[in-house]
Amino acid sequence: HHQPCRELHVVVLGAGGVGKSCLTAQFVHNEWIESYDPTIEDTYRTQLQVDGRQVVLEILDTAGTEQFVAMRDLYMKSGQGFILVFSITSSSSMSEIEMLREEITRIKDDENVPIVIVGNKADLEDQRSVPRQRAFACSQSWNAPYYETSARTRTNVNAVFIDICRQLLLRDEKY
Ligand code: GDP
Ligand code: MG
Repeated sequence: HHQPCRELHVVVLGAGGVGKSCLTAQFVHNEWIESYDPTIEDTYRTQLQVDGRQVVLEILDTAGTEQFVAMRDLYMKSGQGFILVFSITSSSSMSEIEMLREEITRIKDDENVPIVIVGNKADLEDQRSVPRQRAFACSQSWNAPYYETSARTRTNVNAVFIDICRQLLLRDEKY
């Protein structure tokens, strides 16, 4: 039988410079762009198949430039799934996603918001400053999957976006 095309709203969040725009561009356009205007916040729409289901994925690539906290609250409220990105080369960017996760669960008043944790810049292993163990600990306590990615080499980029779609589709079935 025919299933309606599901529209999913995903928000990409994380400290400035961790690679949110590069990851989004790799996923949506299959291209590596060395540098983006760090202040640009944009929404992308793309169609894909997830487990045989056609979905329209709307991705908000945030830039952290909101002038009002209320704006961030708004997209945290309207977002259904969240991709929390840090860079494996920056431990402060890891702390940032811990704060973001707290804010999301508080605003949505839901401990089980669909989240994927992303440690980007995995190609810079020699500059790693976030031990895998620290990310695994978050993954366990938030019950959210962890992926190490490289937007530069396109490693695990699809896996991240497919995972968040899958979590959202499973949620539909449960509720
Ligand atoms: P955003 O502020 O989170 O959107 O970060 P950008 O996507 O604009 O990327 C910030 C900088 O990190 C740019 O100079 C990118 O070229 C670089 N960058 C992003 N992803 C990677 C990656 O996976 N590996 C490496 N080596 N550099 C990356
Ligand atoms: Mg950006």
